[in-house]
Amino acid sequence: MGTMPLVDALGRPFRSLRVSVTDRCNLRCEYCMPEEEYVWLSRDDLLHFEEISRLVDVFIGLGVDKVRLTGGEPLLRRNLCQLVELLADKPLTDLALTTNAILLEEFAQPLRRAGLRRLNISLDTLVPERFVRLTRQHDHARVMRGIHAAAQAFEGTKLDAVIMRGVNDDELEPLLDFAASVGAEVRFIEYMDVGGATRWASDLVVPRSELLARLRARFGGTEPVEEPGSSAPADRFLLPDGRVFGVIASTTAPFCRSCDRARVTADGVFYTCLYATDGMALRPPLRRGDPPDAIAARIEARWAARSDRGAEARAEVKDRTAFVPVSALRADPHLEMHKRGG
Ligand code: SAM
Repeated sequence: MGTMPLVDALGRPFRSLRVSVTDRCNLRCEYCMPEEEYVWLSRDDLLHFEEISRLVDVFIGLGVDKVRLTGGEPLLRRNLCQLVELLADKPLTDLALTTNAILLEEFAQPLRRAGLRRLNISLDTLVPERFVRLTRQHDHARVMRGIHAAAQAFEGTKLDAVIMRGVNDDELEPLLDFAASVGAEVRFIEYMDVGGATRWASDLVVPRSELLARLRARFGGTEPVEEPGSSAPADRFLLPDGRVFGVIASTTAPFCRSCDRARVTADGVFYTCLYATDGMALRPPLRRGDPPDAIAARIEARWAARSDRGAEARAEVKDRTAFVPVSALRADPHLEMHKRGG
């Protein structure tokens, strides 16, 4: 990195990287993977752990200090703890993982020992039959055991719930209660029309304004928690009983202006926005042994030119439907959320 901090065309710094380690998932969530068939990445194309580690060093050199492993379902990647070990000693302020918790009962302690600092767990419902309808799998009990194992091993766990009208929007309070019982914080996420959400419709979105109005009516108030300078996607709120929760309003109140995140798919394609359609392939330069400086220069140029404001641009669209139709997802599977990681 030069002497000037790297910023993009809108003055946004580059701090945070999401690394997808697999495009496979053991759930088929209605809002992410609702189709019967998918085009999968070839195993040979997946970045090796050592390649990911080299790449993360390059990103750190450009100013990144937060890394989150994601997928697909990252715990499906074999020997994931070895990757965590490789990353744990790097100069990062955060090293986190996003998971659906199905395999967490087995992996919570090993991940902690390997040096993982934090977990984000996706949990959309506490009702087992609903879980089956939402995910097409019967793993709710495993998820719950995984969350309890996480509570033993980690602090600061976030429970992420995508709230959909008529599906789970009656579970705001139960989710708050459950999160408190396991020492976690809930983040209610607006349903996004990202690639993969082929059944997205605006009437399924519960806007932040409505979520907050409902919680105010129930609890008597929601005070914003002031976090100056925060680039976190969630706005946090305090209930009169002292509990704190977050809302990620990517659909109705996007926060592109403070977005300091980029993503790398499991096969090494770099995307500067969840909605970006053009990625930059980093696997070829990595595999042919280009020096780190040369790879850094490519990424630096990409970031410097970045002007994406994907979620804001989507919010301006009238009569919004799914962002990417199924045919386009088939033609370019990298547009799928489960390829680039949420
Ligand atoms: N398998 C892991 C998990 O379940 O957390 C990591 C990958 S998943 C793609 C990451 C996050 O993206 C999950 O919290 C999921 O709920 C969220 N997500 C996927 N599709 C979404 C959509 N259409 N709208 C909002 N969030 C979505």
